[in-house]
Amino acid sequence: MAERRTRQKIAVLTVLDEAQAPLSPAQIQTRAQHYVPTIGQATVYRILKSLLEREAISTVQLPGESPLYEMAGKRHHHFFRCRGCEQMYEVVGCDTLLKRLVPPGFALEAHEVYLLGLCAECRRRQ
Ligand SMILES: [Zn+2]
Ligand SMILES: [Zn+2]
Repeated sequence: MAERRTRQKIAVLTVLDEAQAPLSPAQIQTRAQHYVPTIGQATVYRILKSLLEREAISTVQLPGESPLYEMAGKRHHHFFRCRGCEQMYEVVGCDTLLKRLVPPGFALEAHEVYLLGLCAECRRRQ
């Protein structure tokens, strides 16, 4: 039983580590089934909860949507959200000009930026 749990947890961590973008629990489950075919949705949620508590993973929250999950401790990054395939893509870099938007006398502590549009593949299909 303990061994089975360990294999399931390693499968979830492997999936998140290999992912190029944050994943939904359903995507994590599908990919984790390559390693542990019997892994169920409730198990995936339980593992995600315990990994979050240990701060091994973090959530990516878009307004009005369910959270997605990625490995914790990545360097500062942003996302491109495709409205065609609804995939999230990680983008490299950050626009430091954002600081100019801060009103005088205010102290900026963090920012979240999501780029919205169509990915290259969805553009081609149009
Ligand atoms: Zn797309
Ligand atoms: Zn940034």
